Amino acid sequence: MARRYSRQEEALEIKSLRRILSAYLNYSDAAEEDVRRYERSFAKLSPAHKDLLSHLPVKYKRIRWCISVNTFFIMSMLQAFEPPIEMNQGVNFDDHDGQGDTVEGHPLSATLSNPIDKDVCSEQLTISGSHVSMHRPLHGKEENNLINHATRSNGKEGTHIESCCNEYVDRPLTDDHCKEPCDCHQSASCHDSLTNANVSSPPRDWLDMSSRANIPLADVDKVRCIIRNIIRDWTIEGQRERDQCYKPILKELDRLFPSRSKERPPSCLVPGAGLGRLALEISCLGFVSQGNEFSYYMMICSSFILNHTQAAGEWTIYPWIHGNCNSLSDIDQLRPVSFPDIHPASAGITEGFSMCGGDFVEVYNDESQKGTWDAVVTCFFLDTAHNIVEYIEIISNIVKDGGVWINMGPLLYHFADSYGPDDEMSVELSLEDVKKVAFHYGFELEVETTIETTYSANPRSMMQNRYFAPLWTMKKKQKP
Ligand code: SAH
Repeated sequence: MARRYSRQEEALEIKSLRRILSAYLNYSDAAEEDVRRYERSFAKLSPAHKDLLSHLPVKYKRIRWCISVNTFFIMSMLQAFEPPIEMNQGVNFDDHDGQGDTVEGHPLSATLSNPIDKDVCSEQLTISGSHVSMHRPLHGKEENNLINHATRSNGKEGTHIESCCNEYVDRPLTDDHCKEPCDCHQSASCHDSLTNANVSSPPRDWLDMSSRANIPLADVDKVRCIIRNIIRDWTIEGQRERDQCYKPILKELDRLFPSRSKERPPSCLVPGAGLGRLALEISCLGFVSQGNEFSYYMMICSSFILNHTQAAGEWTIYPWIHGNCNSLSDIDQLRPVSFPDIHPASAGITEGFSMCGGDFVEVYNDESQKGTWDAVVTCFFLDTAHNIVEYIEIISNIVKDGGVWINMGPLLYHFADSYGPDDEMSVELSLEDVKKVAFHYGFELEVETTIETTYSANPRSMMQNRYFAPLWTMKKKQKP
């Protein structure tokens, strides 16, 4: 059986991917625009007030430098990104028709036979037998890659597997003089040379093309969001959040599967895997772990960190420069953070670790998935649903009888206040009702507790949004 996306589907996919790339590429301009705004306000001060705050122009200069460092990381990441689809096809990507303005999770087009989310990593697939390949052929280096980027298509049998690699980037990504720029100019020139990097194959025109697009500020916000997620998943600063959110989950998995065999490790799916740290930790614990994620923003970044980092602490970013609010000091705001805190490839993963791009509902609501997972772990994921009942039904379908579902996270329904013209579906249940639905689908509560935590919070901010989130383990009843 072979299925290819139609030209229309492909065009929409290219368009949405270009838009996401544009957001990354416009990060620097949007950040610069903010700094100009600060400067305009400063210029309006009286001379006496300016004197009082004479350090601020220096701070703005310093922020510009930080932006250039962040930009260098983003450009390096984009250089390593291997689009799953031929990007140089003629698609009018400058035409923002509003589809991409919707929050993540909205179908790209109702007319598609196999709906593709605008942020979905729904690669161009060629499916034959049980092997699903990405569009681009394999190259020589994948064996060095830590994860395989699994991709599935709705209703198709079999799993993936293939990986992304950056073998066509001539310039090594760890070029030291670029990594730690000593001034703005040097960093800026690194940025330029990366944009026009001498790439062998294929030509990366799509980077240039995407950079010309005008993009809504909401898209740039998503890039800033990714930067915050890097802190959560891949830095020492994020350790506290990971201890609060991921550690109890890992403890539960360890307790529930005490005698894990290396020969036949239990399997665990992590829907809404974000930047992949939890899925990696589960893999290191001795599970065949698969993360599932539908945002290209996330997938581009997780692929880079998982597959392309050479050493712990290889990269430095300034994640907190984008807001002046609730800051205790300028030093706090302008502090650098290095990442990743561990070298993923040396972390000790279990064979079979993969990241699967696509909408959880599309990918796993499938016959072939029935009763295949020993464990499903959801962390800050349930409330991303349009229809949480559907999520729970699918989780119940894919967990083996006697298998477990560990969930942690609040119920801050993502579509609860989407008042757009599309009248997005959003079923918003209380915790009590969520559990009732789970029991209906054959789950039994084993453990339940409350976790107090934040989500991608700046630990040194005066404002901390705290969640008191349920953590539970449910077991799927054995069929008699
Ligand atoms: N588990 C991670 C990320 C939580 S945020 C953590 O704890 O840090 C929720 C994630 O789910 C986001 O990365 C979002 O892109 C992803 N997501 C939302 N809806 C999804 C869907 N239908 N299928 C797959 N991933 C989805």
